Amino acid sequence: MGAMAMMHTRDRYICLECRYIYDPLRGDPKGNIPTGTLFTDLPKTWRCPECNISILKKGVFRRFEE
Ligand SMILES: [Zn+2]
Repeated sequence: MGAMAMMHTRDRYICLECRYIYDPLRGDPKGNIPTGTLFTDLPKTWRCPECNISILKKGVFRRFEE
């Protein structure tokens, strides 16, 4: 896997409600999400582990860029 592909697959997403950052390299142990799970592959039932907001709520999660 090339460097570009790595960059793409590890996109992080930030919760604009509480500033929690979902990092696919960490997954979400609280939500039973294994490491390596992409944000776009999270189950529809997933909720932010910090503020419990639904992933289905539009505009809450944004791709996080430094
Ligand atoms: Zn949140």
